[in-house]
Amino acid sequence: MNKIPLLDLKAQYQSIKEEIQEAIDRVFASGQYILGPEVSQLEEEIAQYIGTDYAIAVANGSDALTLVLKAWDIGAGDEIITSPYTFFASAECASQVGAIPVFIDIDPVTYCLDVGKIVQAITPKTKAIIPVHIFGQACEMDKIMELAHKHKLLVLEDACQAIGGKYKGKKLGSLGHASAFSFFPTKNLGCYGDGGIITTNDKELAEKLKILRVHGSNPKYYHSLFGFNSRLDAMQAAMLQVKLPYLDTWNNKRRYNASLYNKLITNPKVIKPQEAEYAESVYHLYMIQVKNRDSFRTYMEKKGIATGIYYPVPLHLQEVYQDLGYKEGDLPICEQIASRAVAIPLYPELTEDQIKYIAESINAWQ
Ligand SMILES: *Cc1c(COP(=O)(O)O)cnc(C)c1O
Repeated sequence: MNKIPLLDLKAQYQSIKEEIQEAIDRVFASGQYILGPEVSQLEEEIAQYIGTDYAIAVANGSDALTLVLKAWDIGAGDEIITSPYTFFASAECASQVGAIPVFIDIDPVTYCLDVGKIVQAITPKTKAIIPVHIFGQACEMDKIMELAHKHKLLVLEDACQAIGGKYKGKKLGSLGHASAFSFFPTKNLGCYGDGGIITTNDKELAEKLKILRVHGSNPKYYHSLFGFNSRLDAMQAAMLQVKLPYLDTWNNKRRYNASLYNKLITNPKVIKPQEAEYAESVYHLYMIQVKNRDSFRTYMEKKGIATGIYYPVPLHLQEVYQDLGYKEGDLPICEQIASRAVAIPLYPELTEDQIKYIAESINAWQ
């Protein structure tokens, strides 16, 4: 058996190569390379797919988060409640606008924000909650929206890892006041470079975001705000239009592969991921937990199977957040999971033979 990578982006490209080449040719011949009709078309398609009134394409998922906070006038001294167990950008966006991320512990089953811990973190300075649909799993959105309503907070879903995922049958990214998606190549819907998009039903917000992404100008060269240079390339938009119709098939394949792992992995030393009863996860990553992670990874490497750690350092313990005053032990569930969690290969193109080999290898690990 050849070495099995965590993710194989080349295999996916091969399966849609002709269509991607056509899209590239179309954009190159058009003479319009940034924003324009390709991007508007993608925005319409994504809004329709997610089920929101608006979608605003930007340069990447991190900007998608930051621009929303900026548009909401969140800034110095404001607090934003978010997860400590996520990619850095989920909290960095708060810091980028001068606000303070407030980390609360996660749910041991879903690895998402523990909604039972939100209320005690709310202060008069709290302005927003950023629930992160981590690894494709869904946060408990009804409870989050209920709390947000009660305490007059805004909710920005970080759906960067969860495009196509569902909560109680509704698409993630359609439940908060605004949502951020990333098209980073490794995401479930990835482009061939950087890209991101914001979804929302709020017309005023959508209009402001379109101004913010072009230096706060409307029309061009007339600036009413300080904004950003955060635009999506036409080429990325054209290629994403090719890929979007395949997304559900790819996500279903991920779910099927995850179901095979769930069935085939029987080693009692391994904790498998669990889908919340309200969720339809899109398994951005298939995360297992093992106590002896280093030895597990060495063993898997010898078997020719790649593994990955997401994320080695919880955000509240990152060097850059030392000033916030968190210490080890403050968020024990997150810290324990971060020390045990490891991703095994999961992508649509993984074959059943590969999955069986990986599961058998894991079952033989002592
Ligand atoms: C990838 C990711 C981001 C950032 O997206 P980029 O496109 O890389 O800027 C933000 N949050 C989460 C949870 C992510 O996984």
